[in-house]
Amino acid sequence: MTATRVLVLNSGSSSVKYQLLEMADGSRLAAGIVERIGEKQSRISHSPLASGGERRERAEEFANHEAALRAVSRELETDGYGLEDPRLAAIGHRVVHGGQAFTRPTLVDDAVLAEIERLIPLAPLHNPANLEGITTARTLNPRVPQVAVFDTAFHTTMPEHAARYALDAATADEHRVRRYGFHGTSHAYVSRKAAELLGKDPSEANVIVLHLGNGASASAVRAGRCVDTSMGLTPLEGLVMGTRSGDVDPAVVFHLVRVAGMSVDGVDELLNKRSGLMGLCGDNDMREIHRRVEEGDEAAKLAFDVYVHRLKKYIGAYCAVLGRVDAVAFTAGVGENSAPVRRAALEGMEGLGLRLDDARNEARPQGPDSGKPRLISPEGARVAVAVVPTDEELEIAQQTYALVSEEGPGARR
Ligand code: ADP
Repeated sequence: MTATRVLVLNSGSSSVKYQLLEMADGSRLAAGIVERIGEKQSRISHSPLASGGERRERAEEFANHEAALRAVSRELETDGYGLEDPRLAAIGHRVVHGGQAFTRPTLVDDAVLAEIERLIPLAPLHNPANLEGITTARTLNPRVPQVAVFDTAFHTTMPEHAARYALDAATADEHRVRRYGFHGTSHAYVSRKAAELLGKDPSEANVIVLHLGNGASASAVRAGRCVDTSMGLTPLEGLVMGTRSGDVDPAVVFHLVRVAGMSVDGVDELLNKRSGLMGLCGDNDMREIHRRVEEGDEAAKLAFDVYVHRLKKYIGAYCAVLGRVDAVAFTAGVGENSAPVRRAALEGMEGLGLRLDDARNEARPQGPDSGKPRLISPEGARVAVAVVPTDEELEIAQQTYALVSEEGPGARR
């Protein structure tokens, strides 16, 4: 029996999201999430997608990731997809930080685990949970290959002048301070899909990708390779996000510590959790902000304007970085759904060849077309503007499957 299925695991600090995909046709067999791991009210929600069965939800105390993954395994078994199933080719894990070491998806062994551990200081919230997911999955099924797919990997092609901060070089090197970038799986997938939409090979297209979810980042992709991105050492830099400030003068931190008497941890929390749209107007959901703007709410209008102004600056900067732009691609929750954000971000940029077709921008495709990439620029525009729904799970599954297919049975460790 050929092994053509991939289980994708995204292990966060208190949740595990998973999808089981059939790589023969890219279909999803099952998906679910375990939430509030480590709390009394943890729960699992599982959807048996292939059979079209009802979603199953269960509250149970999952003390740790191992308990959570055992529950995932039981749910999958109920649908006939146990982790022992010989049709399972591999488990693909999302890993947030791969530093400079990991430039591509990597088959997990003890040395790889040790390196991911060494990167914990660069991603203290994410890498420990990602590691726990991998070690638990290995315990549950030691025979199936485990593949780590890194959020940073797509950005490792950035030239040194884009990755370097203008800091004392010895200090930066000693402490590994540089631009790493995140959301790489999404930027890779969306830039490739945007090129396909234009009928081009990714190696022939220059694309600006705007991943606008709760976290948000932009990237400049030349001929399929990332040449710049807005997130930096951590996901805090760059665009205005749901609760993160994005770019600020670094001296804001000194000011808040020295003058306002805040602790470093307090400033960290302020910039990551109480800033961005939330800090500006008290809401981090763009839908709510649109509703408030309609009602004439000034704080919401300012939050929207600050968000869009930053976005416009990055689009302009990446036009300059790329020189020639073939496509601008909007993706993730805000990018895929908010016509007002797309319109405002591109307003007045005709001089750079960026134009929108209002009817296309406002259209909301339904049914099977809703998940497909679509153009929102007018026919014949110099730069194509597109909405490209992202699919990080599919990308992780494809990268995982490609790696284990390439490695052959030797991949089974
Ligand atoms: P995450 O970064 O958590 O994966 P998503 O990519 O799912 O986030 O994006 C979530 C955000 O998308 C929400 O917070 C909301 O602001 C935005 N969003 C979702 N639907 C809409 C919509 N119809 N209009 C505007 N914004 C939307």
